[in-house]
Amino acid sequence: MLFTAVIPCYNEEANVPDIYTEILKNEEYFKAHDIELEILYVDDGSKDGTVNEVKKLAANDKRVRLISFSRNFGKEAAIYAGLENSNGDYTALMDADLQDPPSLLPKMFDEIFTGQYDCVATRRVTRKGEPLIRSFFARRFYRIMRRISKTDIVDGARDYRLMCRGMVEAIVSMREYNRFSKGIFGWVGFKTKWIEFENVERRKGETKWSFWGLFKYSLEGIMGFSTAPLAMASVLGIVFTLIAFLAILFIIIRTLIFGDPTNGWPSMACIIIFMGGIQLFCVGILGQYLSKVYLEVKERPIYIVKERI
Ligand code: UDP
Ligand code: MG
Repeated sequence: MLFTAVIPCYNEEANVPDIYTEILKNEEYFKAHDIELEILYVDDGSKDGTVNEVKKLAANDKRVRLISFSRNFGKEAAIYAGLENSNGDYTALMDADLQDPPSLLPKMFDEIFTGQYDCVATRRVTRKGEPLIRSFFARRFYRIMRRISKTDIVDGARDYRLMCRGMVEAIVSMREYNRFSKGIFGWVGFKTKWIEFENVERRKGETKWSFWGLFKYSLEGIMGFSTAPLAMASVLGIVFTLIAFLAILFIIIRTLIFGDPTNGWPSMACIIIFMGGIQLFCVGILGQYLSKVYLEVKERPIYIVKERI
C-alpha cells in the first residue's frame, strides 16, 4: 500500500528538511503495516531556497518528489496539484511548518484500518498562540458559514487529513478555479473520522496569511458555498418596498388631513442617500458573484508547473 504525504510549501526552506525527518520518525509503524511512502512537496513559487532543499532530499531519497510552480498560485492551487499528482492509495495533506504534527499519522492510519472510515480529518480544539483578533474572526466566520451553507464546515478543522483514493479523485474532479478546500472536503462527502489535537505553533519561518488575506479567503468560502448573500439582497429589496408602501400611505393620509406644507426635504435627502447605499451594496454583491463566474468561464489552469522531480 502506498501512502503519499502532500506538502504545500511557500518560502519554507527552513521547514522542508524538518518535516521530512518528522514523517520518517513513523517509519517503524509504516514498515509494520506494509505502508510504502511517497513525499510530494509542492513548491508554490517560493522565492527562497525551498526548491533546493527539496532537491537535496530527493537526491538521497527516491521517495521524495517535487512539483514546482512557475509563480505563487496560492495554497489552494498547491493542494490541488498535490492531490492530482499523488499516487497513493492513501493521501495526507500537511502544512510544511509542522503545525500538522506528523506524529498523528499512526493514529490516523489506525482509524483507517478499522475499515469504518474513508477519511480521517483533524481539528484543533485550541487556538493557543494565535493572535486574539484572528481567533475571534475565525470563530465568527465558522458560525456564519454553518448558518448559511449546506456544506458541513467544522470550526478549527485543519486541512490536515488522510484520505482514501476515492475521496482524492472526487476532489480532483472538482476543477473549479475559485477553490475553498474546507468546503470541498465537506461537499464530496465520504465517511470522516475527526481527531482532535492541541494547537501547535509554526516551527520556523512566518505565516503567509495576513489578516486581509484571510478575510478575502473567508469571502471565497462564503461565495463558493452559499448563495445567501444574493438572497439577502432580494430580502432587503422586499423589506424596503414594504416600508416605502407604508410611507406612501402615511403621506397621502397626512396630506388629506393636514394639507401639504412644503417641508421635509432633509429627511427626503437622507432617504435617497440611504436607498442609494443599499442599492449599491446589493449591486456589489451581484458583482462579486459575477466576477467569480467570469473567472470560472475562462477555465484557466489552476496551476502551472515549471519543474518536476
Ligand atoms: N502556503 C502555500 N502557498 C501560499 C501560502 C501558504 O503553499 O500562498 C503553504 C505554506 O507553505 C504552509 C501552508 O500553506 O505549508 C500553511 O501556511 P501558513 O502556515 O503560512 O498558514 P497558517 O498556518 O498561518 O494559517
Ligand atoms: Mg501554519
